Amino acid sequence: MTDTQISAQTEPAPVNSVPQERKVVTAIPGPKSEQLHARRAKVVSAGVSSALPVYIERANGSILVDVDGNRFVDFGAGIGVTTVGHTEQRVVAAAASQLQDVIHTLFTITPYEEYVRVAELLAEHTPGTWEKKSVLVNSGAEAVENGVKIARKFTGRRAVAVLDHAYHGRTNLTMAMNYKAHPYATGYGPLAGDVYHAPSSYPYRDGLSGADAAAHTIAYLEKVVGAADLACLVVEPIQGEGGFMVPAEGYLPILQRWCTEHGVVMIADEIQSGMARTGHYYASEHFGWEPDLVLSAKGIAGGLPLAAVTGRAEIMDASQPGGLGGTFGGNPVACAAAIAVFEAIQENHLLEAATRIEARLKAGLERLQQRYDIIGDIRGKGAMVAIELVQPGTAATTKTPNPEAVTALVAYAAQHGVLFLNAGTWGNVLRFLPSLAVSDALIEDGLSVLDDALASLG
Ligand SMILES: *Cc1c(COP(=O)(O)O)cnc(C)c1O
Repeated sequence: MTDTQISAQTEPAPVNSVPQERKVVTAIPGPKSEQLHARRAKVVSAGVSSALPVYIERANGSILVDVDGNRFVDFGAGIGVTTVGHTEQRVVAAAASQLQDVIHTLFTITPYEEYVRVAELLAEHTPGTWEKKSVLVNSGAEAVENGVKIARKFTGRRAVAVLDHAYHGRTNLTMAMNYKAHPYATGYGPLAGDVYHAPSSYPYRDGLSGADAAAHTIAYLEKVVGAADLACLVVEPIQGEGGFMVPAEGYLPILQRWCTEHGVVMIADEIQSGMARTGHYYASEHFGWEPDLVLSAKGIAGGLPLAAVTGRAEIMDASQPGGLGGTFGGNPVACAAAIAVFEAIQENHLLEAATRIEARLKAGLERLQQRYDIIGDIRGKGAMVAIELVQPGTAATTKTPNPEAVTALVAYAAQHGVLFLNAGTWGNVLRFLPSLAVSDALIEDGLSVLDDALASLG
């Protein structure tokens, strides 16, 4: 592709190649999946788990097809990666065409336009109207690592702050930034130092206003770390693995003001919440938050590995030439796919779709909450919605976490051809991360299976 304005220049195929309906034709997992699982056990590290060990042969839209011919409605989208839908036609065509043209040069040797175009799109669509620059990398954790590097270089300071219930990845630094030691860090030390875990905003459990929660966070940062040593505060605007906590009104802008006042770089980890998932390009926009740096990954390239750090030009330019980059970072095929993702968001009206999905999901979940008192909380934005489950009779009092119910609901749904994911510090959150291409009919179908699953708990 050599046009100055790169475009995927393809029309979506009119017909889905996979029927958008669930169908269970064997036991789950089926015999072919069982066979593959036995092969895998011999050669794949036990440290790599699979939530639902059915082996997928094909995927399209919101449906996964396994090797036994079972069709699953996918409410996980590979943890918010296939946000535009599985094998979205624009993404497929752009990546296929790029494969023919050039697969790799290494941007730090001989550059190419697709990288530049992705950086332009990120500058345009991330929050804030100031001049922005980007670096492209391969994974979310690598984006977090680079965000921290860049902030340290810019500020000349050492300390990194994160929030309770955060998840940032599985590399050495990001393991230390996660809230949960198990399974992410147990036995993998020594962990990176100078990482501080400040209290977060968790309205369902702390009952605090945004101002009060921010006061707690800031008091911790001032007393335990000290602003003079703090390079950055890294925050997920809506926490992902932690359980989709939506912070109280005002919380994030107050933290940003404090960071700006004290020369601390505030970084939005939008790896799960970004790329149109919540009804804005970036979830920060829901809260009037304009972060100094924004991290993108998961949904950015429709399923291909790509990630980015985007932010204020003066911060991004503090690094010396050669200090940032990597062999595969900003791979041309992944970049071509990302350009197509931005087009798909526009052309398929996916921001509006996210808002419609939120309304439908929440309405259905509220109806279920009236019948099942273990649904303690319903929260989220756009197609990033969760329920937090508590022990029977505790929703109004202790809100005692109920991870057993989540495990049972996920297992029941899988047996009936619906893929739900768990989440939450206590494992008691069921999250819905469908593709933005999901139909109303599939949402209702998923809700009806959830209803049956709740009834089956007795
Ligand atoms: C998934 C995730 C990461 C890590 O991304 P990887 O691509 O798995 O390294 C970091 N932060 C958040 C919020 C995530 O959801």
